[in-house]
Amino acid sequence: MPSESACDKAQEKSVPVIPSVDRILRSTEMQDVVVAHGRKATTFIVREIIADFRNRVLSGEETVVDFRSFKIAERAAKRLSELAAPSLKPVLNLTGTVLHTNLGRAPLPSEAIEAIRQVASGASNLEYNLSQGCRGYRDCHVSDLICQLTGAEAACVVNNNAAAVLLVLNTLAHNREGILSRGELVEIGGTFRIPDIMERAGVKLCEVGTTNRTHQRDYESAINENTALIMKVHTSNFEMQGFTASVNETCLSKTAHDNGLPLVVDLGSGALIDLSPYGLPKETTVFDTLLCGVDIVTFSSDKLLGGPQAGIIAGRADLIEKINANPIKRAVRSDKLTIAALSAVLKLYFDPDRLAARLPALRLLTRSYEDIFKIAEQIQPLVAESLKGIASVKIIDCKSQIGSGALPTNTLRSAGLAIKPIINGSLGEGRATKLLAGFAAHFRCLTMPVIGNLRNGSLLLDLRSLETPEQLIIQLPELCDKLGADK
Ligand SMILES: *Cc1c(COP(=O)(O)O)cnc(C)c1O
Repeated sequence: MPSESACDKAQEKSVPVIPSVDRILRSTEMQDVVVAHGRKATTFIVREIIADFRNRVLSGEETVVDFRSFKIAERAAKRLSELAAPSLKPVLNLTGTVLHTNLGRAPLPSEAIEAIRQVASGASNLEYNLSQGCRGYRDCHVSDLICQLTGAEAACVVNNNAAAVLLVLNTLAHNREGILSRGELVEIGGTFRIPDIMERAGVKLCEVGTTNRTHQRDYESAINENTALIMKVHTSNFEMQGFTASVNETCLSKTAHDNGLPLVVDLGSGALIDLSPYGLPKETTVFDTLLCGVDIVTFSSDKLLGGPQAGIIAGRADLIEKINANPIKRAVRSDKLTIAALSAVLKLYFDPDRLAARLPALRLLTRSYEDIFKIAEQIQPLVAESLKGIASVKIIDCKSQIGSGALPTNTLRSAGLAIKPIINGSLGEGRATKLLAGFAAHFRCLTMPVIGNLRNGSLLLDLRSLETPEQLIIQLPELCDKLGADK
């Protein structure tokens, strides 16, 4: 073969005869595809595949001379099934971070899923007062429950806690000043920064104190006629140690109230109950926070609370009334599915004895090391056997995190698997890293993707959140095929 450039080749190549789209659609092998996916979608995909075929022939990538051997029906069916599959799907969270923001945070209890199912398919009394036969309020399905659990006078819900903070600030301090300690000017995951939210809420930030120390006198001397509120933000995702000082809620509420100002606290991961009896680290509850004299608290319902994504605002009735009257409330309100789920989750809290068994977030967080280790022992031989010659599989001790910024420095003892690909011969560090990344990618591409962590040349799977080991075991043949193909 004389050497020639790809361009010369392309010019010489003649594209095999391609039947018309209409003819392809009428062909016998295409009929099942049309029935399964509809004429419109199939036509679209067939056009796409023909264009692809033509390009590949012209570039020399495709060497078939007969279009029939291109198996268009098979390709169309595969492509259409891929398109029909949901993009958002369940994964196995084996990262060790139980409330993982990127993986959807709290898993919902069956009671909440049933509540969603009940209202999803038809009409509901979302904003309809059944006893009076008139307009009702969507928040009333959860507000009384929140009040009972937190001791608040009133409460409302919005789309998430970021929206709650924005709404509270905009309602109570628009065009005025909010005082905040420099130690609490925090960023919570990428796009949520307290100073930015304040600015967008139309509130002038008045920073007081220093990064490590803020005193009551700092707040007092910052108060002026334009001050609208004092704010405190839970520094969720980090902990400061050493020479530090901050003003607690009780002292700060005194300062605020002496000056006729409300004290607003963004609790972040708001725990509804004391978690220490469950063996978890102590986190201040919403109830305790309000008891300190705080006027408004905001917190997420999909973090420690273990419910669907929402932001809860609880506190003084007169302030909640103003918040509800702000047009932004309408823009950030919760939908009916969330309200249904949240109501079901809140009701579980009225039976604390069964809470850890019924609320998956709490169940996973309180799972004993022994229980997790048993799962590790059960699946290690199976995983090792199917990855024989491909990877070594060891049981390891690991440390789970609560996640979502809750109690970031406290870890929970857990067990998992360290899966290390077998490398023949010696590889440079770069190649080994790349190989491991490719290895982990196969786990992520399973029917039910498996997400772990890469550490010390291994893929670590923390088994705390694996309640049904079969979900992993059943995928071992698929995994084996994927990994084997690389060999
Ligand atoms: C998580 C968090 C937020 C944001 O809450 P979302 O529910 O994710 O919107 C705001 N403030 C604090 C302190 C947080 O921990």
